[in-house]
Amino acid sequence: MAMYLVDHDRHVVHRTAFIKTECEHREILKAQEEHLNNLQSVEELLERSEYHLCEHCAEKNI
Ligand SMILES: [Zn+2]
Repeated sequence: MAMYLVDHDRHVVHRTAFIKTECEHREILKAQEEHLNNLQSVEELLERSEYHLCEHCAEKNI
């Protein structure tokens, strides 16, 4: 299982291990999701201003 789930539609990065109902990850379109296993890739996404960490599962201790 990948560590991070990226929603390219809403520009949100989730932490797979802490994902919960509020993340509405089941509504992410398959074509818009990406699984990432390394923090560097996530940080590169976050450096683009439109991407942010999910407030429900990924804000702390990333
Ligand atoms: Zn989330």
